[in-house]
Amino acid sequence: MRTIGHFIGGKEVEGKSGRFADVFEPMTGEVKAKVALATKAEMRAAVENAAAAQPAWGATNPQRRARVLMKFLELVQRDYDKLAELLAREHGKTIPDAKGDIQRGLEVAEFATGIPHLMKGEYTEGAGPGIDIYSMRQPLGVVAGITPFNFPAMIPMWKFAPAIACGNAFILKPSERDPGVPMALAALMLEAGLPPGILNVVNGDKEAVDAILDDPDIKAVGFVGSSPIAQYIYERAAQTGKRAQCFGGAKNHAIIMPDADMDQTVDALIGAGYGSAGERCMAISVAVPVGKATADKLMEKLIPRVESLKIGPSTDPTADYGPLVTKDALERVKNYVEIGVQEGATLAVDGRGFKMQGYENGFYLGGCLFDNVTKDMRIYKEEIFGPVLSVVRAHDYAEALALPSDHDYGNGVAIFTRDGDAARDFAAKVNVGMVGINVPIPVPIAYYTFGGWKKSGFGDLNQHGPDSVRFYTKTKTVTSRWPSGVKEGAEFSIPLMK
Ligand code: NAD
Repeated sequence: MRTIGHFIGGKEVEGKSGRFADVFEPMTGEVKAKVALATKAEMRAAVENAAAAQPAWGATNPQRRARVLMKFLELVQRDYDKLAELLAREHGKTIPDAKGDIQRGLEVAEFATGIPHLMKGEYTEGAGPGIDIYSMRQPLGVVAGITPFNFPAMIPMWKFAPAIACGNAFILKPSERDPGVPMALAALMLEAGLPPGILNVVNGDKEAVDAILDDPDIKAVGFVGSSPIAQYIYERAAQTGKRAQCFGGAKNHAIIMPDADMDQTVDALIGAGYGSAGERCMAISVAVPVGKATADKLMEKLIPRVESLKIGPSTDPTADYGPLVTKDALERVKNYVEIGVQEGATLAVDGRGFKMQGYENGFYLGGCLFDNVTKDMRIYKEEIFGPVLSVVRAHDYAEALALPSDHDYGNGVAIFTRDGDAARDFAAKVNVGMVGINVPIPVPIAYYTFGGWKKSGFGDLNQHGPDSVRFYTKTKTVTSRWPSGVKEGAEFSIPLMK
C-alpha cells in the first residue's frame, strides 16, 4: 500500500511518528494509501527549513518569483489529467468536477503572477519641506495554510500561490483525507524552479495544527474548514500574536421570486445543490420560494429532477455526482435526513436506499429533498454537507430576505428573479458575504476576493484578490528628509508637516 509522507525542504520525506490515517477511494470504499500524521517535532523541522530558505526568496525580485508561478501553470496543464484523476479517486468527485477544482486554483496562481504590480507601494513627494513619504510591502516570513478535504487543489493554491509570490515561505497542512494532490502540487512548484524549503507540505491532524498555532516563527495562518475549527484556530492564533483568516461552514440560500424563470432556476438548484454530492462550501442547501404558487411550481419541477439524478463512480464522466468522501460523512448525512424526518419536515425524495451496482462498498447517497422545512429545525440551522436540499416556504419577499440574513452562517446566497429592483434591493440588504443574481454559486473570480460573513468567516481580510496581498505582506512606511531641507533646530512637540 502507498504511504504518503511529507514534502519538506524540496523532497518527500517519510513520517516518523508511527501514526497514519487511511486515505480512501470513496468510489470503491477501499483504503488506497496511508498518510503520515506529523508530530510537533516534525512540524518544527519543516518550519526551521522554511525559515532558513525564506530570506533569499524574499529578496528575489518579484518578477523572478512570478516566473516560477508562470512555469508552474504550464506544468499543471501538462499533468492536468493525471492530477484530476488522482483528485477524483481520493475525494470522490467526478473527473470533470476535479478539473474545475484544479482550474479555480490555477486562476489564483495566474492572478499571483501579477505580483510585481500588486506589491507596489505608494509615494508622496513633498509631504513637508524636503520630506518625501513612501510605503513598501514586505513578506511576513513563514506563513501557514490549513485546508479542508473538499477542494484539495483549489484551496491550497488559493493560499500558497499569493503567499509565495509575495516572498513568504509556506507550510501547507492539507486535509488528511485527500493529501495526494497537495503533495503533487508541491513537487510541481519545485520543478517550476521554486527553491527547496519555500513550499512544504506537512501532513497531519490536530497535533500538526496545534504545532502550527504554537510555533513562534509562523507569522500568519490561513484556514478553511468547518466553523468550530475555524473559530478555534482564529482564537488560538490571536493568543500567539499571529495574523489569521479562518473560513468556516455554510448554509447557502437561494431565494426564488414569483417572476423567476423556473426552468433556469431548477437547473441552477440541481447543479448547485447536488454537484460534488453537496460537499461544497458554496453549495445551495436551502431553497426559499416566495409565495405558495411559486413553491408548488418549484416542487413540481424539482422532484422528478432529484429522482433522476445520475450518481456514479468518480471515473464516470457522465455522472452528475459521485460518492461522499468517507463512510463517516455518509452516515452523518444520512443521520441528518433521519433528523429531518423526526422534526416533521416532508421528505419529498429519499435517496438513502441508493445502491451503486458494482460499487456496493462505495460511499454513495441518492439525492434527498425536503419540503416544509422551518427555521427551528436542526436540518435548517446546521450544515449537512451532502446531497440534501431543504425547501423553506416564505410568504413574501421580506420573510425571504430575513432568512439568510438572520442565519448564523453567511457564506453565499442567490436570488432568482427577472426584477432588477428586487435583485438590487436584495444585494444591498442581505447580510451575507457573496451574492449571486440568477447565479447559484457566486464564487468570485480570482481578482476579486472570496469570503463569507458571520460564522462563515473569522478575520478581516478575504482570500485571493487584493486582500491576499494585504494578508501575506506587512506595510512599512518611510518618511525621509534630506539635509538640504530646512534646518529647524530641536523640536520638542509632536512633529507636524508644515
Ligand atoms: P474540517 O474542519 O474537519 O477540517 C479542516 C482542516 O482542519 C483539516 O486540515 C483538518 O485536518 C483540520 N482539523 C480537523 N479537526 C481539527 C481539530 N480538532 N483541531 C485542529 N485542526 C483540525 O473540515 P473538512 O471536513 O475538511 O471540510 C469541510 C468543511 O469546510 C465544511 O464545513 C465546509 O463548509 C468548509 N469549507 C469552507 C470553505 C469557505 O471558504 N468558507 C471552503 C471549503 C470548505
